[in-house]
Amino acid sequence: MNIDILNNNQLAQMNQLISDAQTIIVTCHKSPDGDAIGSSIGWAEYLRTIGKEPVVIVPDQYPDFLQWLPNTEKVVRYDKHKEKCDMLFKIADLVFCLDFNATSRVEDMEQALVSSPAAKVLIDHHLNPTVDAVLTISEPEASSTSELVFRIVWQLGGFQMVGRQFAVPIYCGMMTDTGGFLYNSTRCEIYYIIGELLTKNINKDKIYRNVYHNYSESRIRLMGFVMYEKLVYLPEFHTAYYTLTKEEQKHFHFIKGDAEGLVNIPQQIKGLKLSISLREDSDKPNLIWVSLRSVDDFPCNEVAEQFFNGGGHLNASGGRINGTMEEAVEIVKKAINAFADKLK
Ligand code: 5GP
Ligand code: MN
Repeated sequence: MNIDILNNNQLAQMNQLISDAQTIIVTCHKSPDGDAIGSSIGWAEYLRTIGKEPVVIVPDQYPDFLQWLPNTEKVVRYDKHKEKCDMLFKIADLVFCLDFNATSRVEDMEQALVSSPAAKVLIDHHLNPTVDAVLTISEPEASSTSELVFRIVWQLGGFQMVGRQFAVPIYCGMMTDTGGFLYNSTRCEIYYIIGELLTKNINKDKIYRNVYHNYSESRIRLMGFVMYEKLVYLPEFHTAYYTLTKEEQKHFHFIKGDAEGLVNIPQQIKGLKLSISLREDSDKPNLIWVSLRSVDDFPCNEVAEQFFNGGGHLNASGGRINGTMEEAVEIVKKAINAFADKLK
């Protein structure tokens, strides 16, 4: 099977950029998820294998359930080590931007990234990339950025050289961005790649457990609480939404990552087209994080763009509301009405 994604020019440019670079940064979007972290760690592992010394910088904290990944101890958090990271961005000559399409997605790290004199290479699978890069590898069809990293390493001839330390984070990124290969994962290339990754002696069942069976008791109770008490189901619109306030999070000893996957659960309702989560920020007042999920051709990214200052993929998007939870709920109702034709 041919899984090449780079044309000859891109391949030559990638080789040249890497071999010329002294100081390399690999970075990803804010609130890194399994794909952002997995692709960054995997790509950095490849670069180390060929003798480079990349630094992985992430804008802020990533969820607890990803801490077990190999080499996380080498990952530097921008929010914790701002001065060191600012300095690294100043002296870097190559920055790999993974799993985001716009510099605004790195939030407080944006200034450091944009003003860095380094050449930027974008490797991403979100629509409409706007990052000012010398090489843009944007493949919205791909399951994940981790899949893209695999295909690039494969094409560079590096797969023979890398081992488990590469295969584990790449598998993890592909798995998490497809909800355990439940959505956005019908293309046969994905399973070809998995077959190859398994030759590196990874335990895919254990990776699944490490990620999805890694919750505290209170997270499981929070899930029950939200589905029983908080879910609003609108059958005529094939839509469900819920709110999660700061107080409720406190009650269930909420930690980063506890909200992950909650928004997918209402999608198990027969015929559901749209699921929306409204979660109050755990610290900042008047900030509501919005997650949206849809199925088939219902474009939740358009809802995110038009109503929630966000965007994302066709079936998985996010955004935010600067306002109270009551205001956010009103906006949800407006959004549902605006898209009623497609939802009914
Ligand atoms: P989640 O609901 O898991 O936070 O995000 C789902 C998807 O939407 C992710 O792939 C993420 O990249 C994208 N996304 C989340 N928030 C935003 C946002 O503010 N802007 C854009 N463009 N995409 C977002
Ligand atoms: Mn991704």
